[in-house]
Amino acid sequence: MKLILVGPPGAGKGTQSSLLASHFSIPHISTGDIFRANIKGQTELGKLAQSYTSAGNLVPDSVTNDMVADRLKQDDLANGYLLDGYPRNVGQAEFLSNFLNQHQEKLDAVLEFSLSNEEIITRLSGRRVCKNCQAPFHIEFERPKVTGVCDKCGGELYQRDDDKEEVIANRLEVYNDQTAPIINYYKNTGLLKTISALGSVEEIFQRALIAIK
Ligand code: AMP
Repeated sequence: MKLILVGPPGAGKGTQSSLLASHFSIPHISTGDIFRANIKGQTELGKLAQSYTSAGNLVPDSVTNDMVADRLKQDDLANGYLLDGYPRNVGQAEFLSNFLNQHQEKLDAVLEFSLSNEEIITRLSGRRVCKNCQAPFHIEFERPKVTGVCDKCGGELYQRDDDKEEVIANRLEVYNDQTAPIINYYKNTGLLKTISALGSVEEIFQRALIAIK
């Protein structure tokens, strides 16, 4: 099973990716997580990515495409994989199509999560994430038992730089200008399935499973 999840920031892609990846027993490949891990470890890639991610801009395609191609060559992908946050523009989608053609592989589905701009802003500005295990919380809708502390591992919760209000507007603009056009790209291939990102985690998960079938 080879899946792509597309949707605006805050649509819950990360949560649904984890559920779907474990349901289909496939690795969850999140380019955002790979960048954050590199930034935390202060690697060369991390130093390069930091200025882009903290401003809510896309890391240049030359860097991102190579990083993804390297990941897709690893040998834990016999069952397939789920790509979360990639591709993020038409250039990346074309790069991925070429990569798959060269390896005689095909995607099974592209799952789009749809959500209004208003809802996105509310979700992102209140989101807090565990520094240790990345589990997401929300200061209003999914409060941790103890303020600032992760229910799952006791780690410290923090607000991602790119969830700060001044950056959210730019991320939305980047999504609408650069990422939304890939929806049409995949519509033309017949792979696109669109579902609403409103509702409980379980409701959205069931919707996703039905859409993929
Ligand atoms: P995410 O966690 O998916 O929202 O990604 C966080 C940040 O990482 C984005 O705002 C970008 O700066 C960067 N990033 C993640 N995926 C990509 C991608 N496919 N292309 C370029 N930049 C990306």
